[in-house]
Amino acid sequence: MNMEAFVLGCGGMMPLPYRHLTSVLLRRDGDLFLFDGGEGTQVSLRRLNLKWKKINAIFVSHTHADHVTGLPGIMMLSSQVDRTEPLYIYGPPKIAEYIETSRKVLDMYINYPVIVKEITAPCVVHEGDGFYIRAFPLQHTKTCVGYTLEELDRPGEFNPEKAKELNVPCGPLWSKLQAGQPVTAADGTTVQPEQVLGPKRSGRKFSYVTDTLYIPSIAKEVQGSDLLICEGMFMNDVADQAREKKHMTSQQAATIARDAQVRQMGLIHYSPGYADKDLDNLLLEAQKIFPAAVLTKDRMHFDIPYID
Ligand SMILES: [Zn+2]
Ligand SMILES: [Zn+2]
Repeated sequence: MNMEAFVLGCGGMMPLPYRHLTSVLLRRDGDLFLFDGGEGTQVSLRRLNLKWKKINAIFVSHTHADHVTGLPGIMMLSSQVDRTEPLYIYGPPKIAEYIETSRKVLDMYINYPVIVKEITAPCVVHEGDGFYIRAFPLQHTKTCVGYTLEELDRPGEFNPEKAKELNVPCGPLWSKLQAGQPVTAADGTTVQPEQVLGPKRSGRKFSYVTDTLYIPSIAKEVQGSDLLICEGMFMNDVADQAREKKHMTSQQAATIARDAQVRQMGLIHYSPGYADKDLDNLLLEAQKIFPAAVLTKDRMHFDIPYID
């Protein structure tokens, strides 16, 4: 089952001609999950040429303009195709008022159900087949949350030799065992799935963290992520300014990545004051702590493969 992340934009505060606002689209086996959507997000989406009109759920970190002003456009464009499945929108308090007011004032034509849920505490916000998405608190100038998508453990690897040895013929019975159900072998004995499956294999984890002070609890939440997309808005020389504005430096993002032992980490939400050439230094500061750190760029793609 494929899982991949597309960076729709990597900038913070305001869109620049060459840098869209922070937004990530996660695709998991045909499901699309959007994390934040500032002004211009739909342009980046269209350029990726994905089946973006069928976004299943949108996860909003907080209700600052650079994270939500693109949502009305995305909702309206989603109405251009037949759709019966609901669109779920999750976010901190005020997200429901924002969506409702936008629909009303803009007289938006929406031909599918929109279900908005406000998050008030750390919790599982969305569940699907074999995975769940959890929200956890960040610390910003207004209520802000981070998200993780975690897959459940997968069954262990099937051992065909062992199945044959136990007199289970190749065919539908093998599928049953692989699905975790006991079967009756040709000799009448019951074979349990554990007899033919190896140890359970872990699922994958994706984390999205932006607009926050550095707080040690973030590392616990994103522990062991296969991909962490994390704000690295400022360089070290303006660390005081970052703290005052309740944002992070790239080095603080790298500290989280290191402490959480993540596999891949992409920096995001750069200050608009930095030109692309300045970002090389921002990256170097991060790499001193977490050498595998990378700069995300608009429409960059990350594969999130299974590791076993
Ligand atoms: Zn922001
Ligand atoms: Zn903000």
